[in-house]
Amino acid sequence: MASTVRVIVIGAGFGGLSAARALERPGVQVVVIDANNFHTFQPLLYQVATAGLDADDICFPVRAHLRKRRGTRFVLGAVTAIDLVDHTVTVDGDRVEHFDHLVVAAGSVSATFGVEGVDEHTFPLKTAVDALALRAHLLGRFEAAAASVDGDIDLGIAVVGGGPTGVEMAGGLRELIDKVLRKDYPELDLRHVPITLVEAADRVLGPFHPSLSEQARSALEKRRITVQLGVGVARVEPDAVVLADGRRVPAGTIVWATGVSGSPVGALLGVPLARGNRVPVAVDLSLPGHPNVFVIGDLALPPGTPLPQVAQPAIQGGAHVARQIHAQLDGRPTEPFVYRDKGSMATIGRNQAVAELPNGWKFHGFIGWLMWLGLHLVELMGFRNRANVLVNWAWNYVTYDRGSRMLLSHPPEASPHD
Ligand SMILES: Cc1cc2nc3c(=O)[nH]c(=O)nc-3n(C[C@H](O)[C@H](O)[C@H](O)COP(=O)(O)OP(=O)(O)OC[C@H]3O[C@@H](n4cnc5c(N)ncnc54)[C@H](O)[C@@H]3O)c2cc1C
Repeated sequence: MASTVRVIVIGAGFGGLSAARALERPGVQVVVIDANNFHTFQPLLYQVATAGLDADDICFPVRAHLRKRRGTRFVLGAVTAIDLVDHTVTVDGDRVEHFDHLVVAAGSVSATFGVEGVDEHTFPLKTAVDALALRAHLLGRFEAAAASVDGDIDLGIAVVGGGPTGVEMAGGLRELIDKVLRKDYPELDLRHVPITLVEAADRVLGPFHPSLSEQARSALEKRRITVQLGVGVARVEPDAVVLADGRRVPAGTIVWATGVSGSPVGALLGVPLARGNRVPVAVDLSLPGHPNVFVIGDLALPPGTPLPQVAQPAIQGGAHVARQIHAQLDGRPTEPFVYRDKGSMATIGRNQAVAELPNGWKFHGFIGWLMWLGLHLVELMGFRNRANVLVNWAWNYVTYDRGSRMLLSHPPEASPHD
């Protein structure tokens, strides 16, 4: 009887699940390990933070996803060690799992870039827990302002980082305040709550065509968001962002959306890491010197121009390494990974998005927004989640309201990282 080959996939994100789906075949046992029992659709995290969606609309149970795959098993736990000599992965410090092939798809973490005060005083937006913490803080600020007798609660918001996450977050916050909170808090004058978007580069949405960056900037400014370009952040204080030129942007809520660096799981491989803690890999996405180990997604840095840390390279990388592992099992040579760019999109809010296709076609405004809605619905995992999101979006659009505004603890934590 032919022996079974065991492939461990670390991470049930975009890359890991794509690899797991494509890996399964007779004689291959796949073990997916993740620190969470759910997959997070990160592109819609900002909607959870701004009360447009519930967290479980965009999170999907991994076991439900893998349920029909007889050759795949799920292990819930954090990977704490990887031994490339003994071919083992340790989970939660003591559970040892053996592999013949390993796919590392542990993604990335929010990057502070060493800026003082970021850890203590800002809210990252990388996980469902981050989004819920930010939502609780925001709603808590408005409750505190409503209860305050001397009106000393600063409701101003600073969003640092003018990439898609920062732009979407700033637009979503303005909509939340204008369309929902102004009605919820008649005792507060919320017509002039300042929202500032700070970006070190000279335009927002750097990877997009400059004309779309300009569309996005103008759409943000129409929504009364101050766009501060060409200046970095020197440090963050409890109640303000201090810019490199010395100016202060006072804010009671500071969202840190400047980018990501590779997951700490990369360091467990024991190889020198590249810029942004990414793991340098060979053209076929294998770890140099370890042909049975592959790294994909946000964590991987293949040779050449760095791939963007977005979902498509992870999804395509997952399918690619599954094919390479099958090739190795069949005695065939591996092939280089070729990334197919499918375009980029970002929304600024209701009826307003920018989209750029690989052939150079550009869309903005209502058409861009419809494309954005359609793509995100199609990409979401699970019929129930898609249906929930569609119903929520339709409800929000028609009623100008948002349903997900529960405050589970009051008063909320004083600091983002308590
Ligand atoms: C706010 C936000 C908005 C975004 N918007 C977009 C967008 O609009 N379009 C787009 O294409 N991309 C977007 N991205 C980027 C996209 O989500 C990532 O590029 C993509 O998720 C990377 O896939 P991955 O498989 O490498 O990692 P992930 O999808 O992050 O998955 C990594 C998995 O590894 C698990 N893990 C981590 N450490 C351990 C450990 N020690 N042990 C076990 N498991 C572990 C995590 O729990 C996670 O499930 C966005 C990201 C964020 C944060």
